[in-house]
Amino acid sequence: MFGLIGHLTSLEHAHSVADAFGYGPYATQGLDLWCSAPPQFVEQFHVTSITGQTIEGKYIESAFLPEMLMKRRIKAAIRKILNAMAFAQKNDLNITALGGFSSIIFEEFNLKGNRQVRNVSLEFDRFTTGNTHTAYIIARQVEQASAKLGIDLSRATVAVCGATGDIGSAVCRWLDRKTDTQELLLIARNQERLQRLQDELGRGKIMGLEEALPEADVIVWVASMPKGVEINPETLKKPCLIVDGGYPKNLDTKIKHPDVHILKGGVVEHSLDIDWKIMETVNMDVPSRQMFACFAEAILLEFEQWHTNFSWGRNQITVTKMEQIGGASVKHGLQPLLSW
Ligand code: NDP
Repeated sequence: MFGLIGHLTSLEHAHSVADAFGYGPYATQGLDLWCSAPPQFVEQFHVTSITGQTIEGKYIESAFLPEMLMKRRIKAAIRKILNAMAFAQKNDLNITALGGFSSIIFEEFNLKGNRQVRNVSLEFDRFTTGNTHTAYIIARQVEQASAKLGIDLSRATVAVCGATGDIGSAVCRWLDRKTDTQELLLIARNQERLQRLQDELGRGKIMGLEEALPEADVIVWVASMPKGVEINPETLKKPCLIVDGGYPKNLDTKIKHPDVHILKGGVVEHSLDIDWKIMETVNMDVPSRQMFACFAEAILLEFEQWHTNFSWGRNQITVTKMEQIGGASVKHGLQPLLSW
């Protein structure tokens, strides 16, 4: 059996779905109560591949909320992730994806040294960040959606916001190696890491967000921001494709412009229905078929019986591994989301 560790996008979101998640009494409470809430099994379900194989999985809500980072409740955030991992392991899940901020907290606060969670000694090869599949799906969304919009990558500028991150750097590697993208704009805050990425790629312009956005035909958002930013659509090129892979979404603006196309980044659609309710609570348009690509990675690892931490650590995702998980994705009937 596989597992998915997820979290909600804000306290407001948590209040709106707390009942469905079994946190009934917490529904109207503030952040303090979420800081002390335990992880929960929310749902058990089956996924069938187009090969005919069926597997079983469980969704675990960690009770982490991005506000814990904004309000510097770091110990609580760390506890949420470690407790959810220990909970998954205790319940014998073979391979579990660390969704959204779970893997970011694990890396950012170097939790590799926190193996012992009460009586559970965490076995890290039972967990995957899911970032290889996420990066693969976002890269394919860039390729396929730009073709759909008539944006020719060989003459296009692609800006990657969060370029030095685990997913961002992998997307850059793919665009560099597998496409003829004309120009890459690399955006993040830490200049040293940007320089290292530029050296590795042997290309790419390091730019600030404000100056990069008006130059981009395609914008990939994969920054780890607990809250989205607002941008003015008037400053963007037309047409412009935006692939927003952030969770919570990196873009806070509801852009309604006929030539600005926003795609939910890192989302896949399965060819068959899944008997779960969980994707309704995170606002998927077709909740019985759509899911985050990081969750889908755990599903693929279970289908293939690759019970290993396929995606682990930071900035180690290779194009070869993206191709490997991408092959499994196609084999079992998953497609990158392409509708906006
Ligand atoms: P990382 O922590 O590895 O990387 C984050 C990147 O964002 C870094 O380049 C960081 O660089 C940059 N960044 C952070 N804050 C800012 C800012 N204010 N302005 C510009 N750049 C910024 O994260 P991941 O690659 O693991 O994840 C990226 C995003 O993808 C997250 O939102 C995550 O929740 C989401 N995600 C989505 C999944 C899906 O299935 N759709 C799966 C997994 C993650 P610096 O600090 O130098 O600015």
